[in-house]
Amino acid sequence: MGKWTDIATWKGNTRNHSSRNGTDVRGFVVHTANGNGDGVVNWLYNPDNKNTSATFVVMKSGKIYQCLDTSLKPWTTGNSNPWTISAECEGFFDEPFTAAQIAALGRILKKANQVYGVKIKHSKSDGISAHRQHMSTDCPGDERYAQMDDIVAAAKGGVTTIDGGIMLPDYGDKHKDVKYWQYMLDRLGYDLVIDGDYGAKTAAAVVKWHKDYLKEHKSTAKPTDGKSISHAIAVELQLDIVEKSLAGKLKGPKGDKGDAGRDGVATVTGKVTVDLQSGAVSG
Ligand SMILES: [Zn+2]
Repeated sequence: MGKWTDIATWKGNTRNHSSRNGTDVRGFVVHTANGNGDGVVNWLYNPDNKNTSATFVVMKSGKIYQCLDTSLKPWTTGNSNPWTISAECEGFFDEPFTAAQIAALGRILKKANQVYGVKIKHSKSDGISAHRQHMSTDCPGDERYAQMDDIVAAAKGGVTTIDGGIMLPDYGDKHKDVKYWQYMLDRLGYDLVIDGDYGAKTAAAVVKWHKDYLKEHKSTAKPTDGKSISHAIAVELQLDIVEKSLAGKLKGPKGDKGDAGRDGVATVTGKVTVDLQSGAVSG
């Protein structure tokens, strides 16, 4: 049985499907429907549609419709259909997934991991992948393709965000929001290459910074092991930025900042704002 009613609204099997003929599911493929709202779902059930289907439809709101039992072969991804489940996502190639869509796709991936052992990683062969990795197509669009790692992070369950929706990364994560934290550590004097890769160097910088931070604040709390930017660490990092800015102790920005600071701004507890480039504090 593959009706995932704990995460999705069951719509009944669409006519377009076939048997997997015993092939095990080992992948989850993401698509963009190039359509808005319920029109996407309606097309899958339209009798004039004689050649496409999808296991799920994921709306911009984060709502998930299930249109095929996962045990059935969807008609979405050509030769990869026998061993994949699929999601058509509301919206268009030239727009990014909404945060709610990323969270919803993460829930599907997590469930696929629990049920079928699909790996929680970006992989064409045994994890989550994009339509373009299987066939000659732009689907799901460049912006959405750039968000595949965000979906993986969401499936890992640790996706909490801080003010402004900036993700709190774990060790091993590689995405643009890692740069935000690296840039902050760099401005605080913990020399880092701002590459968006939460590897050993970034983890070491987090540990070193936190030990100094606790010492400065005469805290006896246990220092972090650097394995993630937890919510508590994120708050302390941002507070430290405010304190160092006010004290004129922020190190000068260096080299290529890229999109390191997202909007170049750290908002602390929704009130105080620090311009990460200039160090100016307001609010
Ligand atoms: Zn597609």
